[in-house]
Amino acid sequence: MSQEKFPQEEVEKLKVLARVEETFPDADACADCAEARKKSGDPTDLCRTHLKQIYGI
Ligand SMILES: [Zn+2]
Repeated sequence: MSQEKFPQEEVEKLKVLARVEETFPDADACADCAEARKKSGDPTDLCRTHLKQIYGI
């Protein structure tokens, strides 16, 4: 048996990471994200749309 399988958990984690990398450049250009960041004081905060995008829902 030389076939290595990623545990499903790891695969899901990698998918989330890939989505985060895709989403953040969009979020930086998003007015709603800018607003959310201003409100929370968290420079990595996201609007609902982009949060959904990251969580894939
Ligand atoms: Zn956004």
